[in-house]
Amino acid sequence: MENCLFCKIAEKKIPSTIVYEDEELLAFKDIHPHAPVHLLVIPKTHIGTLSDCSAGHAPLLGKMLALAPRLADEHGVAVAYDEDGAPQRGYKTVINSGPDGGQEIYHLHLHVIGGPHPWRHER
Ligand code: 5GP
Ligand code: ZN
Repeated sequence: MENCLFCKIAEKKIPSTIVYEDEELLAFKDIHPHAPVHLLVIPKTHIGTLSDCSAGHAPLLGKMLALAPRLADEHGVAVAYDEDGAPQRGYKTVINSGPDGGQEIYHLHLHVIGGPHPWRHER
């Protein structure tokens, strides 16, 4: 789609730090990271927002989400269990949708945000 920033990133017309690519998806580093690891997963084809998706998009959406644990592992933030079985590390997977959802770029993207304290929100 013309004048879409993430379409241009997918077409390599705008540079980005690419961390994963296949025929359908691209993952790259967020330019303004909120945490030590902040990656964005996008479909290469233009989809404006999650509300433009329906059941037919389930395989693509599933592929995007399934990429998150692999990226988390490759970037050192995958959930692991210590010797007592307590979970360690971790990350957030976020899709912002629409103005009330905080979406700024209208090309569907999944944030993968993780890393060590102190950035983590208190519970
Ligand atoms: P949203 O608020 O739409 O969910 O998130 C958009 C994200 O895209 C933001 O975290 C922002 O930092 C990131 N972003 C905006 N422009 C660029 C860019 O040109 N390159 C990269 N790599 N990330 C961008
Ligand atoms: Zn686009």
